Amino acid sequence: MNAPARPVVTPAATDPAPQTGASAPITQDVLTIPRKLPEAGRTNLVGLTREQLRDALIAAGTPEGQAKMRVGQVWQWIYQKGVRDFAAMTNLAKDYRALLAENFTVDVPELVSRQISADGTRKYLVRIAGGHEVETVYIPEEGRGTLCISSQVGCTLTCTFCHTGTQKLVRNLTPGEIVGQVLLARDDLGEWPAPGRAPKDETRLLSNIVLMGMGEPLYNFDAVRDAMKIAMDPEGISLSRRRITLSTSGVVPMIARTAEEIGCQLAISFHATTDEVRDKLVPINKKWPLKELLEALRTYPKLSNSERITFEYVMLKGVNDSDDDARRLVKLIRGIPAKINLIPFNEWPGAPYQRSDWERIESFAEIVYRAGYASPIRTPRGEDIMAACGQLKSATERARKSRAEIAAETAR
Ligand code: SAH
Ligand code: SF4
Repeated sequence: MNAPARPVVTPAATDPAPQTGASAPITQDVLTIPRKLPEAGRTNLVGLTREQLRDALIAAGTPEGQAKMRVGQVWQWIYQKGVRDFAAMTNLAKDYRALLAENFTVDVPELVSRQISADGTRKYLVRIAGGHEVETVYIPEEGRGTLCISSQVGCTLTCTFCHTGTQKLVRNLTPGEIVGQVLLARDDLGEWPAPGRAPKDETRLLSNIVLMGMGEPLYNFDAVRDAMKIAMDPEGISLSRRRITLSTSGVVPMIARTAEEIGCQLAISFHATTDEVRDKLVPINKKWPLKELLEALRTYPKLSNSERITFEYVMLKGVNDSDDDARRLVKLIRGIPAKINLIPFNEWPGAPYQRSDWERIESFAEIVYRAGYASPIRTPRGEDIMAACGQLKSATERARKSRAEIAAETAR
């Protein structure tokens, strides 16, 4: 493809004005860095588990006795130092670097554009193989920073308050595309340490991961597990499992496996206190109703040795926000170590709900708090760039035109 790089107009720029956004200017960068396409016959090492990487290195000619050590070395270059070029992996012998380059690539998804909100939130539009697009959001906070990553393009579920839910599932992300979002964000934040020094958790710009972007992570379990194992590995991204939170709408049979095979923190999109209302808001409830969901949640902390479960509760005016709802909620979750995150509904164009009034949210929070649970009200972040919870919806649908343009460009 010899055509000169030309700016890509990202669809987000044409989104309708936000309803409650801040007035300070938003910056939008259009990035035109061409992505290195995976070359024929070479395997991308990003996202391979330790075992898969070991097997791949042996198949390429690494002596079995050295393979374990090589896995550690290569992982450190990729995940702790941000190195994508084998020639720069200087603690490996020259011949070995050449062997790696012949057989493998280190590819991350392509960063198409970045928008920075008035509050510092960064929304990345990320293109994955096949031209599909997902969004990743970085939320800076005092002394820490959280990356909200996507696990699917679209979602099979149809929660009625969620923007992603209006988009059909296009495909699951691979482990490399999931962990690749972390590498991309670190590129953008410039957070690669000086050689030989892993960043300390306390000082990291990117210190936490939440699987709360597009998609239902428990419907892409294996890929999410493999990616999160790399995120938690001391020779990988090296984040404590306490700094990783997986949010699910309630795929009950996968909750115990999450505890056993990932062991991260769990957040549950609860949102209602009766099956009647939850059936409407989170339709997966028809398959696994509240009783079954609560049973699975009761066993999670013990199985995963984690402290408490986060109950996410989106505040929808006149739908689930009464004092009675708050009382029912604390009754339902009695006995489960929990924190209740109250999320003021983030509006999106055409949404069938409204955000509860502030006094209503406070009254709800007060009842939950008095019952002994932390009940923070989540401040919406990045609303002016549609980066807040539940506002994500990939360009695969929004931007048919730009994808057609991409296809035309590739064919040229
Ligand atoms: N599929 C997973 C994770 C992605 S959604 C899940 O449902 O848990 C991440 C969180 O954002 C969920 O708690 C979801 O219920 C919430 N959410 C979705 N749409 C929202 C909206 N418009 N306003 C506020 N929160 C929303
Ligand atoms: Fe899917 Fe979660 Fe949105 Fe429901 S809330 S549609 S599960 S992304």
